[in-house]
Amino acid sequence: MELADSCAFPTGGGQPADTGTLNGARFSDCVRDADGRVQHWCERAFEAGDEVCVAVDWERRWDHMQHHSAQHVISAMAVHKHAGIRTISWELSSAGDCAVELDCDPSEHGATLSEIEAQVNEAVLGGKAITPRQMSKEECEAEMALYDKSSTEHLFRTPERFAPVAELRVVFIEHVDANPCCGTHVPSTAQLQAVKFTGVERIARDGKKCTKLSFVAGERLRLLLENYVLIGKQLKASLSCGPEGWAEKAAKLVADGKEDGRRLKKMGAELHAMLGEGLVAKAQAERLPAVHIHRIGADTGALNHIIDAATAAAAAADAPLKLRVLATAKDEEGGTGAGSFVMAGLDARGADKELAAAVLAAIEGKGGGKDRVQGKLGALQGVAQAMELLSAAPPDEA
Ligand SMILES: [Zn+2]
Repeated sequence: MELADSCAFPTGGGQPADTGTLNGARFSDCVRDADGRVQHWCERAFEAGDEVCVAVDWERRWDHMQHHSAQHVISAMAVHKHAGIRTISWELSSAGDCAVELDCDPSEHGATLSEIEAQVNEAVLGGKAITPRQMSKEECEAEMALYDKSSTEHLFRTPERFAPVAELRVVFIEHVDANPCCGTHVPSTAQLQAVKFTGVERIARDGKKCTKLSFVAGERLRLLLENYVLIGKQLKASLSCGPEGWAEKAAKLVADGKEDGRRLKKMGAELHAMLGEGLVAKAQAERLPAVHIHRIGADTGALNHIIDAATAAAAAADAPLKLRVLATAKDEEGGTGAGSFVMAGLDARGADKELAAAVLAAIEGKGGGKDRVQGKLGALQGVAQAMELLSAAPPDEA
């Protein structure tokens, strides 16, 4: 739907477009064309000449106004109060952090950035008026000179598809800054509520070390804080200490967890070796051609480790023996949940092809392999029949 003009802000100047409704139908984007008309990307079509009521999603617009205005104040403090630290570009997002790119090396300006944050929040407390004014080139140059800005010549150049500009819209922040801008702003710095720098990253621009400064302001900052307060309550309860101890305690828990993991892995390897060797000892003692082991909570990796140990023990025995091993696992005792199996000691694609297929049918197993057949276990109750099959056709004694 194209309108001669609109109260919805179209994409431009780095600020995302407004969303909202036209006579109740949603529009998800709007852009201004070269003639100044505004196109609304709407979920339904309209007829030329239809009269429409444009409603803007106010929460989104207000959030953009707060963050865009906060960026003005940050850029102004950096350039006016800190030896001309210029803003290279900025990003205004609709969620998470917004960012300003400054032409200074963050490793040399850590303290400066903290000062800028304090000065921005002083300006918030000061309730400085933010006022846009239409100005001629001459007026603009005179006003901008007061704020120590260089030539305004470039500001009157416009893309070729647009008509030349006779006037500029200059946004004044009382006693702080004057800057040409087409965006949307809150009427007073007090309405920024507060501005918090949330991250400093060193970036390269034209081979120079620069700063990407992330920040959050206004209602978005209050909601972020509300979330942190909630997380804080949960941490206090689970860590049994106040905020001053969280970092140390969390670091210790992570380190302990890693150490426990290493210890558990080592113990698991020892256990798997013992189980594998036990299978071979049982086969030797009872002269069994095939053995079965079932583990609750094991995965295919663990079953393979047990079989590795059994295979190694069988080969290392005084009288090396060929042994068939069926290893099965379930997530829980007697449950109907997932299970897995690994079978070793038979030539599943050669001489023992039919035997392997019969065992798979008995346990309703789904899977494959040559020296080891492994996959999903369907019916644990079929193991008895599977063991009969594996024992009935004994492997050749080595
Ligand atoms: Zn602006």
